[in-house]
Amino acid sequence: MKEVVVADPTGFCFGVKRAIDEIVRALSEKEDVWSIGMPIHNAQEVARLSAMGLKVAKEAGDIPDGAKVVVRAHGIARAVFAELRNRGAQVIDMTCPFVRRAQVHAAELSSQGFHVVLLGDARHPEIRSIMGCVDGTIEVVADVDEAKQLSRRPRMALISQTTQQEERLVAVAAVLVRKAEELHVCNTVCRATLDRQNAVRSLAGKVDGLVVVGGRDSANTSKLRDIAKTNGMDVVWIEKIDEMDRRWLEGKNRIGIAAGASTPQWLITEVCNTIARS
Ligand code: SF4
Repeated sequence: MKEVVVADPTGFCFGVKRAIDEIVRALSEKEDVWSIGMPIHNAQEVARLSAMGLKVAKEAGDIPDGAKVVVRAHGIARAVFAELRNRGAQVIDMTCPFVRRAQVHAAELSSQGFHVVLLGDARHPEIRSIMGCVDGTIEVVADVDEAKQLSRRPRMALISQTTQQEERLVAVAAVLVRKAEELHVCNTVCRATLDRQNAVRSLAGKVDGLVVVGGRDSANTSKLRDIAKTNGMDVVWIEKIDEMDRRWLEGKNRIGIAAGASTPQWLITEVCNTIARS
């Protein structure tokens, strides 16, 4: 038997829970419900929703005219909204308010003439949704090294993907302040992300190892693993309990469990119960 210590808070954040609850509610009306892209970066939860009838389209063009479409927490570009509305879609907008805040900052500062620099992963849907709200010039940087490569501009605005580490935002701001006469920094890192990251830090030195539970595509889950490593913890990252290497558990008594903001409670409970019994 192992002692299991669950990070607090962990798992679904406010924005993801809100979007998933709305999808489940819409599905209960027995109409087709569509999502553009995976509604959440968790394959097991998407499989559960698909079994209930959710249809996942690769892009808006794949969705039939007039369909009911739930916009996921990452949001979508303005042009995609316009296309859906023009085609008579019933759009249920579940863009997380914190992502919306980043979109609004980017759009407003761009319209004031700032060159927008987004800190984040250029392939991530949230970054694409923010880029899709900007009419002026915009670039994405992943880290300090990429920020150093940017050209000088008179006016720059730095905005962060909500799941970034605050330390990285501060480090990139320190680089950009030497590249612009005027730099506007928006701290759009989400509190839910910070709280989950701090919960992992607080387990350092208190557990023999940490199991991070979450989807392979989940940016915030990956950050939890990185933070655990940085804090000297012995960490493994699994999507579901079947992936757990039992040999890793040998000789460990207290096991910490942390989960990304897109990991449903039922998966966390499965992991906790199985490890506690081992
Ligand atoms: S992590 Fe934050 S910004 Fe992203 S969906 Fe959750 S609450 Fe919203």
